[in-house]
Amino acid sequence: SQRHEGKTALITGGSRGIGRAICRRLADEGAVVAVHYGHDHDAAERTVKEIVADGGRAFPVHAELGVPGDAEALWAAFDRAAAQEDVDARVDVLVNNAGITLPRRVADVTEADYDRVFAVNTKAPFFIVKHGLGRLRDGASIVNISSVVTRIAYPHLVAYAMTKVALDHLTRTLAHELGGRGIRVNAVAPGYTETEINPTLAIPEIRQRYASASVFGRLGQPADIADVVAFVASDEARWVTGHWIDASGGVHLG
Ligand code: NDP
Repeated sequence: SQRHEGKTALITGGSRGIGRAICRRLADEGAVVAVHYGHDHDAAERTVKEIVADGGRAFPVHAELGVPGDAEALWAAFDRAAAQEDVDARVDVLVNNAGITLPRRVADVTEADYDRVFAVNTKAPFFIVKHGLGRLRDGASIVNISSVVTRIAYPHLVAYAMTKVALDHLTRTLAHELGGRGIRVNAVAPGYTETEINPTLAIPEIRQRYASASVFGRLGQPADIADVVAFVASDEARWVTGHWIDASGGVHLG
């Protein structure tokens, strides 16, 4: 199917992990994909090459998030790259996916840790949307990547969970504000997903524990999340906005 034919998509943190799977899926479905990254240029190039090898269109966009002026820098980099690729610098699908974790209990969180995780996970998406308002086409779709930890108390991810709770509120409020332009805004919330964000997944006992948190008894794969994002960003979900979609494989059902 070509649900995203003729669209331009920007995926923050599109170079690796869940973002990479989202880029590949949207490109497979016809979108021209801007693969954003912050540090690992090779990973972004790899993802772009994979898409092009599959017959899709993609280009890398570099901007470090979590630093002052990050959102404006991202849009400036997007504009430059789009001009170079001869792509209209307007966006149909924006996925706020870039994020970092903070696996510490309250007693161990420093002010610097706290500021950093909020700067990347919460402040950056807020200002990316703010500075993107003029670039988003009417009828566009914004997807914010949340987490199942927003729905439970998980002491060793307290500050990280707070960043995503704030993002969930942004999702609802933007859905309200931007509805008049036909712009939909939704959240997709993964559970334990096999990416590099959580190095402890290399430890067999921890893997097993996280896998067994899902009623299906396995870890999520990036593609499991990407398929949900591709749906909610598509016209098939045209009547869905302000919604929070669990994509955790049934973690914490009971
Ligand atoms: P990864 O660590 O695999 O990938 C993170 C991506 O974000 C990379 O592309 C990375 O690029 C980019 N990124 C990270 N920090 C910055 C920064 N400061 N500036 C710019 N880009 C940055 O993570 P995941 O794929 O696992 O996570 C993606 C999203 O999913 C995150 O929002 C995460 O919170 C969420 N999530 C993940 C879960 C999981 O179990 N994996 C569970 C629930 C939610 P680069 O390295 O080049 O900077």
